[in-house]
Amino acid sequence: MSKVRVRFAPSPTGGLHLGGVRTVLFNYLFARQQGGEFILRIEDTDQTRFVPGAEEYIIECLKWCGITPDEGPGFGGEFGPYRQSERKALYRQYAEQLLVDGYAYYAFDTPEDLEKKRAELPNFQYGHAHRNEMKNSISLSSQEVEELLRNGTPYVIRIKVPQDETVSFDDMIRDEVSFETSLVDDKVLLKADGMPTYHLAVVVDDYLMKITHAFRGEEWLPSAPVHILLWKYLGWENEMPKWAHLPLILKPDGHGKLSKRDGARLGFPVYAMNWTDPKTTELTEGFREIGFLPEAFVNLLAMLGWNDGSDQELFSMDELIEKFSLERVNKSGAKFDFEKAQWYNAEWIKKLDSARLLESIIQIFKSNNIEVTDQGKLSVVIDLVKDRCTLLTDFISQGGYFFENPRVFDFSSVVNKWTSEKVSFFIAYTEILNAITDHSPSNLEVSFKALAEEKGLKIGDVMLPFRIMLVGGKFGPAVFEIASLLGKEETIQRINKGLDMLSREV
Ligand code: GLU
Repeated sequence: MSKVRVRFAPSPTGGLHLGGVRTVLFNYLFARQQGGEFILRIEDTDQTRFVPGAEEYIIECLKWCGITPDEGPGFGGEFGPYRQSERKALYRQYAEQLLVDGYAYYAFDTPEDLEKKRAELPNFQYGHAHRNEMKNSISLSSQEVEELLRNGTPYVIRIKVPQDETVSFDDMIRDEVSFETSLVDDKVLLKADGMPTYHLAVVVDDYLMKITHAFRGEEWLPSAPVHILLWKYLGWENEMPKWAHLPLILKPDGHGKLSKRDGARLGFPVYAMNWTDPKTTELTEGFREIGFLPEAFVNLLAMLGWNDGSDQELFSMDELIEKFSLERVNKSGAKFDFEKAQWYNAEWIKKLDSARLLESIIQIFKSNNIEVTDQGKLSVVIDLVKDRCTLLTDFISQGGYFFENPRVFDFSSVVNKWTSEKVSFFIAYTEILNAITDHSPSNLEVSFKALAEEKGLKIGDVMLPFRIMLVGGKFGPAVFEIASLLGKEETIQRINKGLDMLSREV
């Protein structure tokens, strides 16, 4: 068998939906597993939908997910160019071959002609039922057609879909899929400006780039019969890739495809990374920026519609490459569950070591104006608080106070029970801290407890205010771990500040 070659073929029209990333991922996993090649092809023939920056964004998303194309724009390869707009000149010959062989025809209808027809017939489809009523090389005489061409009349080339045939193909997920051609319209293949449409370009490029398997979203299933016919009409049927149409990612309630708007409505991201629409400057938040790890993002996407048959839920990219199989991809759509997505992230935060998390957390701290001068200390902090973090951004509240004074203090739960005995306890404790040389968590605890006992105070009554003085609220890991890591000076300073704030609150 020839070498496996798969492609991800996005149109650069905006942010990358998580369904798009899952399509890339399944292609990539299959390619790597089979020792094949993964190609990135930019399908930008529809210039009206082209959005500047979208291609760079897609490449950045792949990079973030740890997916490197073997071929593609900027990645090299023997089958380039990999942007369809740069391949414009090569598509016409195939459209013309189809004309000569009687599988396609010229259509001279103006946009007004088409509009008029649609107004007359609301369900109008340009196909076998009505093509004779339109202005094309089937309805007109050859002299008329020649004259129109000679006069430079704008035209498109359409596929001539047969009237009563059944087009079938074997889908790797759905098994046999069949379509009645009577329901398929004569799609435009070459536009008036000489650009191919997606339908012609996708078939020509899959052929020329020797694609062996084409996995794409289920939303492309209705286009499949046109593509199958083109493979056949161009005489390439034996080289047609194997198809798989991946199930949709559904709204959390299971009703319909998850859209960008659902994310905004339900308060979670749908795009992989932040996307700013260059026209409207509207910002759509991404998984990366709200604090997802790429390991978790890849893992949760793989589990949307696939499992390995066991209870295992956490998979690294390498394990996915080893275990992935299209046969185990469900036919039905997968409901998106943001709670579950967060669970994957929390598990991955726990799983990864602080060295892997360090760089991302430094960046997150930086964008929140928290300066990290001691990376060694940050590594310790990461290990100390990571079990409490679901998103990487949680490290700001769970670990930021090790590097700056807490920004807010909530003493409400201790203010009513604040007494002069407690004040003197904390003053005495700062003196102890000053005097002792062993600032290990256990020694800090021993001296704290001894002092409480000496002063006749219950340990819990002084522990909570101590915690709030150090971190700003009722959260965080063991309080003596915190104090030990903050160090003597900082702990004393925070106690003094806390005493001062409490004296004003009481
Ligand atoms: N350009 C199409 C897209 O934007 C590709 C569909 C396909 O893979 O055939 O998703």
